[in-house]
Amino acid sequence: MKTLPPVTRPPTTPFSRNHDPAPTEAQRGYQAFRPCLRWEFGFTCALCMLHEADLAEYGIGPTGLTTVEHIVPQSEDATQSNTYANCLYACRWCNRSRSTLPQHDGSGNVLLNPTTSAWADHFEAQDDQLAPKTGSGKYTEIAYSINHPLKVKMRATRRKTIERCRTLVLEAPTEIEELSRLLEFLVASNQMERADTVRRVARHLSDQVALARQALQRYQGIPVDADKACRCRPAPTMPPQVAEQLIEI
Ligand SMILES: [Zn+2]
Ligand SMILES: [Zn+2]
Repeated sequence: MKTLPPVTRPPTTPFSRNHDPAPTEAQRGYQAFRPCLRWEFGFTCALCMLHEADLAEYGIGPTGLTTVEHIVPQSEDATQSNTYANCLYACRWCNRSRSTLPQHDGSGNVLLNPTTSAWADHFEAQDDQLAPKTGSGKYTEIAYSINHPLKVKMRATRRKTIERCRTLVLEAPTEIEELSRLLEFLVASNQMERADTVRRVARHLSDQVALARQALQRYQGIPVDADKACRCRPAPTMPPQVAEQLIEI
């Protein structure tokens, strides 16, 4: 199983556009790009870097917690609303927070675009926040509320869950083996009361491992409800910016 890392590092390269979905003329036709955008950005909000698994425990499904964000807002230029290159995958908090804020703040700072700027040039992961390092990083952080307390909490929950559960899954099996050897010794030397205690501890530890595995299932890099195909590809793949951070458990 490949899970998300405890902490997502800001990508060192911009996301490149690998999808080229057939254009659509329909009103809100950009919604048809959603499967492409999910894969393009690795099921991750391109702005605050929260993954779908951070937002919803049982799959993003029709929760509406992720959206199509328009770099040039529809209110500014409606003709670009169905232009794929103008669309990003974003969580609802980022999308709502920016609303229609302009791309320039009037003081030389711009709203960063994750397909042309590497997030690592403007942000660093620090205390469950994406701390801005540049003026444009700061403007982008404020516009999208990248460090809203709720987002910080979701990052912290993932970090703690993955670190603790991973340690348990990796280390407990050896401890369970040791307990079972101890149990054999206690039974052989007729120390039945102690043997019962050890048996109970081993069982509880096994239960903990099972629970940890279950908790980690939530944080799979490719969600269970990932689209099998998108509007342009029969078998889409993960972007390197997200794929290279996944860890095998
Ligand atoms: Zn596609
Ligand atoms: Zn977001």
